[in-house]
Amino acid sequence: MSHNIQYRDYPENVDKDKVFSELSIYVQNECWQEGGHLNPIRWVPAPVCESIDAAQQYIETHDRGWYDCLAVRYREPIRGKESKAYLDLVKRRAKAADRYNKMYRELYAATVTAAFIGCKSCGSKLSREHLLTRTRSNQCPLCGADLRPASTLEKIQKARDSMEEINKKMEQEACRMAKTNGTVRWLVKIEFHT
Ligand SMILES: [Zn+2]
Repeated sequence: MSHNIQYRDYPENVDKDKVFSELSIYVQNECWQEGGHLNPIRWVPAPVCESIDAAQQYIETHDRGWYDCLAVRYREPIRGKESKAYLDLVKRRAKAADRYNKMYRELYAATVTAAFIGCKSCGSKLSREHLLTRTRSNQCPLCGADLRPASTLEKIQKARDSMEEINKKMEQEACRMAKTNGTVRWLVKIEFHT
């Protein structure tokens, strides 16, 4: 027997009885061997969450357990009507992600000229050539420690932080857009066993 949790989203004015009957048929088909069924859906009237992620969080924290099925509303920005600020952030994020990925993937051995690289963790002297051509990794093949110096790891962390900072700004802007120019939808969580 396995636990199934699924999410669906619908327009705000959707026919709730129709949703329930469609999902019930779906669940019956999914668990024809177990004879499982769908519990009634609790359509929570308030609040209207500020994003689909917030709606999912709301559902997770208000779940009563035992195959509780519940729904909450959320605001969603209209696709194709994103603000200029948002579109700028999308571009910035792409650049930041690109920068981070390049830094993260760069082979340390390719950036040094010495024939041997010392592992600070186990003390091994590792052949640069071997790291470059054989393992192609930034990990010590003997102990698994990261061979990159702390200053490099710090730079990588900073690149990651700035990417996440942009992500946060995008989320905020998406919420703002949804509030001023968005639609309201239902996020429905169903749970059943098969
Ligand atoms: Zn090592």
